[in-house]
Amino acid sequence: MSITLRPIDHAIFRNTFVDELRGEIAPDKRPRPVPGACYSRVGPTSVSNPHLLAWSDDCAALLGLSRPAERDAAVEVLGGNRVTDSMKPFAARYGGHQFGNWAGQLGDGRALSLGEIEGQDGAWWEIQLKGAGPTPYSRRADGRAVLRSSLREFLCSEAMHWLGVPTTRALSLVGTGDTVVRDMFYSGDPQAEQGAVVTRVAPSFIRFGNFQIMAAQGELDNLRDLANYTIHHHFPELGQPSEAVYVAWFEEICRRTAIMISHWMNVGFVHGVMNTDNMSILGLTIDYGPYGWLEPYEPDWTPNTTDFGQRRYAFGQQPRVAMWNLMMLAHALTPMIADVEALKGGLELYRVTFNESHEEKMLRKLGLTAQSEADAALVEELPSCLEEAEIDMTLFFRQISHLAATLASESGSEAALFGEFIAATSYAASPETQRLEEWLHRYARRLREESEDAGSIRATMLSVNPKYVLRNWLAQGAIEGAQAGDLSALHRLMGVLQTPFDEHPKHEELAQKRPEWARTKAGCATLSCSS
Ligand code: AMP
Ligand code: MG
Repeated sequence: MSITLRPIDHAIFRNTFVDELRGEIAPDKRPRPVPGACYSRVGPTSVSNPHLLAWSDDCAALLGLSRPAERDAAVEVLGGNRVTDSMKPFAARYGGHQFGNWAGQLGDGRALSLGEIEGQDGAWWEIQLKGAGPTPYSRRADGRAVLRSSLREFLCSEAMHWLGVPTTRALSLVGTGDTVVRDMFYSGDPQAEQGAVVTRVAPSFIRFGNFQIMAAQGELDNLRDLANYTIHHHFPELGQPSEAVYVAWFEEICRRTAIMISHWMNVGFVHGVMNTDNMSILGLTIDYGPYGWLEPYEPDWTPNTTDFGQRRYAFGQQPRVAMWNLMMLAHALTPMIADVEALKGGLELYRVTFNESHEEKMLRKLGLTAQSEADAALVEELPSCLEEAEIDMTLFFRQISHLAATLASESGSEAALFGEFIAATSYAASPETQRLEEWLHRYARRLREESEDAGSIRATMLSVNPKYVLRNWLAQGAIEGAQAGDLSALHRLMGVLQTPFDEHPKHEELAQKRPEWARTKAGCATLSCSS
């Protein structure tokens, strides 16, 4: 179905979450426990000067929305200053395990859903403002978000989508004209920063934690109603809810989570805070906070300073942590499922799906189509070779895509090529290359067994190994520009990241190795949850 484009203030919203589930009309926005509720009906708090900073035409096209002017009625909606008649704004109640510990009620402390609008694709999309003011779930915080973290969420949501990674989307970034005080590294140095609101878009923002809070507080009616709601609207192919359907639903959540994590591992994305309240029930990447992108290949790397001691959410831990999070979800679902053993099937499916999906993606990244027995070993040994030689992950796969055609057609002449290749992709002054070189020789031999012609191997590899990812220092450059009123770096990045597999010869410097100045710089090497 095709809808004529309309501004968001003219869109008709439906409100299934509010209309079909138990919640409360929030009499005030003071933080408090809200037992018995799936949500609190609470509206945004106005800001002084909402103005559009960035807009995703791609996301807007999906929703059938027209682009607003810098300041107009649509921007009033996106900044939280206007609620139209068909919206029933709400903050969802959820809990979660944070860094392995049960944290009790958390909830949308600064996010507010306005309701859902019908997209051009006929699907319904929930529209959520992040940073739109306090809710009953704001705990000790202000319900606001700073420009730097909002820009990071806006840009990364869209960049991930364009890479083909399951994710929530972002429609707009709106400056509020107000300042927000944050102590960026919790070091006793609070600063006034510019505030912003991101408009996020997803079929739903329901998290593992929405179910966990119900189970933890013995609200079994809410648990079941929320599960039935989720299945009805988001997993309709599973049919009418029953115990068997709950088990099948959990399996599907496990499967989708496995696919999502395999995508992260495939592009070098580190989420940074994989608490169970940051895990989408739809298997989407959600809540972009202190995330980062691997540059030197380092499984133990995380950008999140809060996690520097434990490294619980480091790159290489992500597959295991997702499994742990699924176990916590399974535990929350047990009141609805008498045959608890049945849930183990989902966890096993997670393991198998992740392994298969990961291996399949890695083989494609390496341009290997015909299965050979030795391929699993090639895939398995590559990470430690890359780590030892301190190789940039994105550059490695991109450059090897260009090299593959030569390797597949020649033999014996690789040694000189490899030296150059490693020097161009390594961060080490004198990299330890012996294992990587051996690996490359084996890989070259293996490529020559492929029946595909060299040209099509190269084309496949270039279509799965991005040239451009949202390197940490690129996001930081866009932030510093935007803070100074210059949005050109942000818009340039948006343009390039929209087609990350294209060459964009004019933008080569956005595909460079991390510059030395960014190695230890705040915002590039280190990030916190302060946002
Ligand atoms: P996060 O670490 O961003 O996933 O947030 C964890 C919890 O803290 C969620 O319940 C958030 O809504 C809440 N939260 C984070 N920042 C703020 C803020 N500035 N104001 C209110 N609540 C917040
Ligand atoms: Mg969160």
